[in-house]
Amino acid sequence: MTDTKTLRARREKLLGRNMSLFYHDPVHLVKGEGVWLWDADGRQYLDCYNNVPHVGHCHPHVVEAICRQASMLNTHTRYLHEGILDYVERLTSTFDRSLDSAILTCTGSEANDVALRMAQAVTGKTGVIATDFTYHGNTTAVSQLSTRMPPVGGYGGHVRHVPAPDAYRPLGGEGGQAFANAWAAKVEEAIASLAESSFGFSALIIDPFFANEGFPDLPEDFLAPAVAAVRKAGGLVICDEVQPGFGRTGSHMWGHQKARIVPDIVTLGKPMGNGHPVGGVVAGSETLNAFRKAFRYFNTFGGNPVSCAAAMAVLDVLEAEKLQENALHVGAYARAGLQKLGEKHALIGNVRGSGLFFGAELVLDREEKTPASDVATRVINGMRERGVLMGKLGIHQNATKIRPPMPFSKDNADLMLATLDDVLAGL
Ligand code: PMP
Repeated sequence: MTDTKTLRARREKLLGRNMSLFYHDPVHLVKGEGVWLWDADGRQYLDCYNNVPHVGHCHPHVVEAICRQASMLNTHTRYLHEGILDYVERLTSTFDRSLDSAILTCTGSEANDVALRMAQAVTGKTGVIATDFTYHGNTTAVSQLSTRMPPVGGYGGHVRHVPAPDAYRPLGGEGGQAFANAWAAKVEEAIASLAESSFGFSALIIDPFFANEGFPDLPEDFLAPAVAAVRKAGGLVICDEVQPGFGRTGSHMWGHQKARIVPDIVTLGKPMGNGHPVGGVVAGSETLNAFRKAFRYFNTFGGNPVSCAAAMAVLDVLEAEKLQENALHVGAYARAGLQKLGEKHALIGNVRGSGLFFGAELVLDREEKTPASDVATRVINGMRERGVLMGKLGIHQNATKIRPPMPFSKDNADLMLATLDDVLAGL
């Protein structure tokens, strides 16, 4: 057995005590392949958590593309290179025609930071609206948007938070259009407040799938009234696709397409390079030009030939292995299995999600919908002990987060469901 205690002590000393770890008994991983992970003792785990290895851990096509380009050339983007052009051409062909150009970054945080500044460049204003349970990254500017960890010194006056949409407990008590209108009214209030301030209103930034907020199953066209209010006020809509992008929701390539809106700016990250650090901001060329003019932006590593080769290879595999379709079918199958488990375990309050991003909100009683946040922690630790890795998230931190690599199969779903059944029965 490997000595995890020594490793943890070494980690604390070298990386700091507050560097977080998953699970009461952290996993010491040494190898990955497809949807599987292995620890240092050779134990195999089913990965139901990681969306970064989007097309599967260590996919040979992506590994080969990275190695080939790394042995040929890697440099910054102040030279001509076709790799970045071929990639941005292929990437933007999956978006609405109005979103036809891109800036490549190294992380999702950077992408959102750039997006906020793009909105500033276009509108001349700095006020931003985000949801109150979101996470958009860790730069000084974007950490102002997150409420999980309020910034030291508090929020700048330029940020307004609106309640994260929760379809299980809809704002105003009613679902459907009334819920959409109630949420839009909150956005309108925030716009009015910013318009009165010295900051003015620049942009609404949302994950259109509200992944970190607990991926609520929202009514069709839920976002339409809020987006109309933003446009009427001259603001921009930024969609953070770091989580729902690249076909994960099964029905659409992008979360905003699923939500039936066309944003002004889209940000990308996590799955884009299958683990190679690459992110991006997609926007119309006028937005991009306004940004470059205002900020003279350059990113040393963003869009380098190796990153572009990795990102291109991800698109190759997505297409060749029909992984979006797989997400649609396997996701529906697994969600149905989760619903069925709900007939047996009263703890399962609400099953939701789309494609290979789904889970169940765990509640102490279905009538009151009392969040079972501590039980959720026990559940994910119980799953880990039995060799299945998943997480939890949401407004009440009581929703299981199941977001595996995209080649996840029905057999994998069966294993995950049988293990969950076992864990819930043993509580
Ligand atoms: N946006 C969202 C929605 C995220 O979930 C995250 C990371 N969890 C980020 C942005 C930040 O991405 P990164 O960690 O690559 O900076």
